[in-house]
Amino acid sequence: MMDRYSRQILFESIGEKGQKKLGKGFAVIIGCGALGSLIATSLVRAGVGKVRIIDRDFIEYHNLQRQLLFDEEDIRNGLPKAVAAERHLKKINSSIEIEGIVADVNFTNIEKFITGANVILDGLDNFETRFLINDASLKHNIPWIYGGAIASTGMRMVIIPGKTACFRCFVNDLPPIGTVQTCDTAGIISPAPFIIASLQTVEALKILIGSKEINKDLTVVDAWAGTFNRLKISPLQNCPSCQGKYQFLEGKFEVVASSLCGQNAVQVLNPRQEKISFHRLEQRLKPLGKVSYNKFILRFTIDNYEMVVFPDGRAIIKNTDDESLARSLYAKYIGN
Ligand SMILES: [Zn+2]
Repeated sequence: MMDRYSRQILFESIGEKGQKKLGKGFAVIIGCGALGSLIATSLVRAGVGKVRIIDRDFIEYHNLQRQLLFDEEDIRNGLPKAVAAERHLKKINSSIEIEGIVADVNFTNIEKFITGANVILDGLDNFETRFLINDASLKHNIPWIYGGAIASTGMRMVIIPGKTACFRCFVNDLPPIGTVQTCDTAGIISPAPFIIASLQTVEALKILIGSKEINKDLTVVDAWAGTFNRLKISPLQNCPSCQGKYQFLEGKFEVVASSLCGQNAVQVLNPRQEKISFHRLEQRLKPLGKVSYNKFILRFTIDNYEMVVFPDGRAIIKNTDDESLARSLYAKYIGN
């Protein structure tokens, strides 16, 4: 069995001792897009004993450009990402435990998903769930690794509870609704998430083998420009999460989706109820689909869905009764 990992064992900082620790490790990857695909592939090939992947989405053609774990057949078979990921990964390494879970990670289930993990990896595309991971990680004393990529740029940061600044020390609060760019609005080239996911994987390996050489800086990469920067992030004096006030874990900011009976539509409620700038949102959505607005509502059509957005952040998503899909569309195009 060890022959499979012989080249990794030859690498001095891991060695046979490190390899055995990897074999006993348990990593949880939340979100299986471009980042999650690469992280999962790397950790499974590296022989991490148990890898759990959680994702709520199905695979679409525009994912294939950068989401390494999926292919056209998965789309023809209509597979959710977590199921396709598990199937492909089991073919790569049958000697470890691999678990794909189709779920929308939220404040009611995250603690169950991370129980027993040695490290949590962020493969997400939205801030709300990252704040949630942050709270859960601090509460249960499990290190997590933030990663985000958009266009040609990305960031990576390791959060070790009680030892480093946390994600909320760094980002403070959710950005105003409708202002955040995502891959679905600003686009993305594959090298950006590939670099970030690789940098996340390196730190996960270090955490799993108990290395003291953890990189505690925020790493900022621009793949197009070929630049790397490291920034020190200091713990924030009055950070609620660091003080044990887990507001995201309490569901205080949770975006809630509920199917509207008999209407083939889902209502998405944003508890923050901030006033949205329709003008800014229109500018952002214009290149992607049909968008129009007046004082009272903004209408946006993408693929087969129509989204009707209200000034307080509430939205009705038409042509689906799938609440998880509605939350996902909301996160992608409106932001949270
Ligand atoms: Zn903090």
